[in-house]
Amino acid sequence: MRYRLRDEAGASRSVAYLLMGSGPFMFLTGVILPTRRTVPGVLTFVALTFLLTGAGAACRWRPDRVPSMSWLLAPFFGIGLVTALNLGTDDASTGAQLFYLWPVLYAANFLSRLVNYLTLALVSAGDGLVVFTVLGADRGLSDWASLTVAMMLTAVVVWSLRGRNERLREVLETQAYADPLTGVANRRSFDGELARAVESAHRTGESIALLTLDIDHFKKINDTWGHGVGDQALQQVAEALRRVASGDDDVVGRLGGDEFVVLLRTDRLGARRAADEVRATVAEIATLPGGPPGLSIGVALLPDHAGSAVELGAASDAALYEAKEGGRGRTAIAHPPAPRHNVDHLPAHSVSGV
Ligand code: GH3
Ligand code: MG
Repeated sequence: MRYRLRDEAGASRSVAYLLMGSGPFMFLTGVILPTRRTVPGVLTFVALTFLLTGAGAACRWRPDRVPSMSWLLAPFFGIGLVTALNLGTDDASTGAQLFYLWPVLYAANFLSRLVNYLTLALVSAGDGLVVFTVLGADRGLSDWASLTVAMMLTAVVVWSLRGRNERLREVLETQAYADPLTGVANRRSFDGELARAVESAHRTGESIALLTLDIDHFKKINDTWGHGVGDQALQQVAEALRRVASGDDDVVGRLGGDEFVVLLRTDRLGARRAADEVRATVAEIATLPGGPPGLSIGVALLPDHAGSAVELGAASDAALYEAKEGGRGRTAIAHPPAPRHNVDHLPAHSVSGV
């Protein structure tokens, strides 16, 4: 099973720093600080130092080589390690217990609510095992209860901060990708969607249509009724486009000024029908003082008129230009690209003079 975290980069860095910090810590507490050392003990700690530091370096610099499931299992590994070390060293001090903070903070930052509950339960169980074994039932009980409550409160605080962060990120993403006046995709976001659609169309062989739309004599609306009414006209046209292009994969964007684009996963007939529907929906706009605005529409299809996103944009734009030149208030379909001449297939007389 492939497991994917939303913030795998953050998770891998957290695991990396933990492991790279644990390696030298093992060396200090297992090799340098003890007054009585045994050869097997020293060898074990030296091996652990190398193992943890090496694993940390892999997580930091080659996280793509680490199985993705590791990021989910990391807190459980951490709880097991802290419990084993505290038990092995008979250490139930507050300092030793503080190491349980890592799995709790990690889970609260990167993992699901369910995994958080499980992490807290295991931290509580692991700490209970240590303190009851080392301190006995009486002293152990209060120690265990305070650590369990402290860890739960820590998780709640971090979890709620994470929720606020995620909401803030969503707001920022919306602001970065949407046109503030109309709410449809801005140029940057639309370009990304178009590139992805073209890539998928190349894979599946499906046809996609790009409609480029421009309000006719929009400047006149601004000049006659004011900028505010001009803004309203842009919003109403965007709303009409959204109503027509309402499929899951359809995208409406505003390239700037009074120019809009609509991306549809459809063929020539579907694109034509959509252009007519847009025209009919815009014609129903009843709230503008000068009546519904006129529209010119250019339509281009991939693969009929273009082989790439740039070519599709250019073909649709050229069709819009034709619609404007043809008198506005109309729809023009792009022309198939001119055949490319291959020099190997040219008739002999046309190359003989070279
Ligand atoms: P055509 O029929 O050839 O399309 O002419 P047009 O008047 O529609 O187009 P033109 O490019 O001459 O004018 C577009 C105007 O749109 C110019 C600009 O001041 C105005 N504009 C651009 N952005 C906004 C906006 O956000 N709100 C408003 N109200 N006007 C805008
Ligand atoms: Mg215009």
